[in-house]
Amino acid sequence: NYTRETFLIANWKMHKTVEEGRAFARELVRRLENVSPKHQLIICPTALSLWAVGQELATSPVMLGAQNLDLGREGALTGALSGYLIREAGARWVIVGHSERRNLFGETDALIGQKVAQAFEAHLRPILCVGESLDDYRSGQTFAVITRQIEAIFPYTNSEVLKSLVVAYEPVWAIGSGEVPEPKQANEVAGLIRQILSKQISDDANTVPVLYGGSVSSNNIHQFLEQAHIDGSLVGGASLQVDEFLKMADIG
Ligand code: PEP
Repeated sequence: NYTRETFLIANWKMHKTVEEGRAFARELVRRLENVSPKHQLIICPTALSLWAVGQELATSPVMLGAQNLDLGREGALTGALSGYLIREAGARWVIVGHSERRNLFGETDALIGQKVAQAFEAHLRPILCVGESLDDYRSGQTFAVITRQIEAIFPYTNSEVLKSLVVAYEPVWAIGSGEVPEPKQANEVAGLIRQILSKQISDDANTVPVLYGGSVSSNNIHQFLEQAHIDGSLVGGASLQVDEFLKMADIG
């Protein structure tokens, strides 16, 4: 039996203006006064709002994450944002390999592996997203796809840093669809993820948090959190309202 960190992570995607983001953060901080959340809470606003939202969260236990990073540190890379700049803006976390990045922005397994490495290099903890498509799911390819996506990061990372990885299992067909896998099934995949990681980091894989994400809300989060291999959730749509976010964190 291993103790693992647990998380509730808000992925705002391309939502909220800077002012809206600040208002959410201010309200969240207010509502968390005199409360000690049982999970670590992370807000991932747009890159544009990182600094402002981070300023609001500065005095609270809520942490800040970015939704993506680009390779490199500084240089002639128009439009790009490095891990170094993200860290300087106040974030300590970064989502890497979200299915929207993979599918809509053409990010490959290899690029995602390099991004994970760059995140560590910039002293950001990466939240690596993996998940099978509906076709993969229907054709029984889930385990093969997850294995490929996890193993793709091994060439770029050493086992020392890999211990501080967080993985989010997000079936692509469950994201934003209102459909969720059977919690037992998600649990099985989470267990598999730790098993794959153990090829690289042996027993340390037992302490790597694995989250579930995909159409999670306050109505269904508990059935996932009660699974032995699932250590929290990465939430999109339902993370946009403070009330709902707190409800998912079990804070009334
Ligand atoms: C996500 O995009 O990470 C996600 C889980 O989205 P949603 O909660 O909206 O399905």
